[in-house]
Amino acid sequence: MSSIPAPASTTERVRWYHSLYLKLGVALVGIFALAGLGAFWLITHTAEMHTLEVQQKLSRGVAQAIVKHNQFFDGDEVDQEGLKALFMKLMAVNPTLEVYLLDTDGKILGYDAPAEKIVREAVALQPIQEFLQQQQPELLWGQDPRSSNQDNIFSVHPIDVDGQRKGYIYSILASEEYASINELRKASSFLRDGATTILAMTAIGAIAVVIVLLLLTRTLRRLRQTMAEFRRGNRSARAAVHSRDEVGALALDFNFLADTVQQQVEQIQTADYMRREMVTNISHDLRTPVASLRGYLETCLLKEEGMDAQQRRQHLKAALKNTVRLSRLIEDLFELAKLDAGDLQPKMERFPVAELVSDVVQKFQLRAQNRAVKLDAKIEDMATQVQGDIGMLERVFDNLVDNALRYTDEGGQITIEVSKNGDDVEVRVADTGIGIPDEDLSRIFDRFYRVDKSRGEDRGGTGLGLAIAERILALHNSVISVASQQRVGTTFTFCLSA
Ligand code: ADP
Repeated sequence: MSSIPAPASTTERVRWYHSLYLKLGVALVGIFALAGLGAFWLITHTAEMHTLEVQQKLSRGVAQAIVKHNQFFDGDEVDQEGLKALFMKLMAVNPTLEVYLLDTDGKILGYDAPAEKIVREAVALQPIQEFLQQQQPELLWGQDPRSSNQDNIFSVHPIDVDGQRKGYIYSILASEEYASINELRKASSFLRDGATTILAMTAIGAIAVVIVLLLLTRTLRRLRQTMAEFRRGNRSARAAVHSRDEVGALALDFNFLADTVQQQVEQIQTADYMRREMVTNISHDLRTPVASLRGYLETCLLKEEGMDAQQRRQHLKAALKNTVRLSRLIEDLFELAKLDAGDLQPKMERFPVAELVSDVVQKFQLRAQNRAVKLDAKIEDMATQVQGDIGMLERVFDNLVDNALRYTDEGGQITIEVSKNGDDVEVRVADTGIGIPDEDLSRIFDRFYRVDKSRGEDRGGTGLGLAIAERILALHNSVISVASQQRVGTTFTFCLSA
């Protein structure tokens, strides 16, 4: 048998950059790294927000304290002198404090900083109003005059003179040096420790993933090795099943597939062997009668003059016997081929089986008498009907009775029995002939099988009769069985539907 070339992928090693292990590894380590980064961001962000919230809560009263003890306006004008002195005082107390005097629209009226640092002329009033209305202090962002795009935590208090609102003291609480998250991170040892822990956990997780993947893909690699071994011709190679997961199921599937392939290969090998044996048998069975036919005819031609009428007649009779044998063999072969190909389908009908049996008995009676063999039928109920193709079933009876006659010696007995067996009708063809050895019983239904080659040929058999009978009965959903004892007799049994 020629083997099918394996696709390149099954003969090559899987390249490392195509490996499932690598793909899964990269994907999972990537997910781990992302999860680690996400967790780190969440922790630092929460910590930052929490710090700012606490800072704003603690410094909530800063603006109020400044307003309480100072004057900022002289009539409607800003008291620039007083303001300057105040800012100097505040600078001395807390250099990081950023304090602004705002008018009622949020416009910046005074501050203490280098002018180039102040990038806004006014700040939004809405956060200021929210701050002043808050019952429960919560984190609030206000515009930072030192930044055009970044908001900051603040404290604010209104300046009221004689019941009239003049403006606000607005203080930015998170000083510039803590404004960036990086500064905050650098400043916090807790955050540093947290980040290190997260990094370590991510690294350990990634290593664990790599190890688990290595173990998982190892079973896959082993399975692939087994498959390759099977493909190379070791038909007994089977995968070890260690788990009930998908890989285990795959191994089981492969084993099942391998069993099926193995079975099919065996079937093909048997069929191939049988085919070769059949060709040998056919040629042998054809060659023998053709050779002797030719021999008799050639003798007749060569010795035409020297032969008397009786001798010629004997030769021609022998030649005729061989042609009969040949045509029988060819007919049997043809019929078996049609049965094997499914070309012959039974024409089912119901008929009284007794009629068919008595026809067969009549047909073979003369031959039986000539051989001094008793042939009769025992029918339990003459009215018994069976379902079947009369022509085909007659062929079965013919083959069985013909065999019985051929293998039963003088003084023997052949009986066709018909009786009820449940809903079916049981038929038995029994003889008191030479019997069949036990070791041959299972093979006599094989085509061309003869218990003793010379014995069958001598008695005119082709070795196809029982094979044909078995196939015909299979078309009637029936199975033929045989029981035999050497020198006692043989009984063939089958059932037909009533
Ligand atoms: P054949 O044409 O040679 O009889 P069959 O297929 O009908 O071929 O039978 C196969 C073989 O089974 C025979 O060659 C013979 O050896 C054996 N056999 C069949 N029927 C009988 C029987 N009634 N008694 C003894 N041997 C039998």
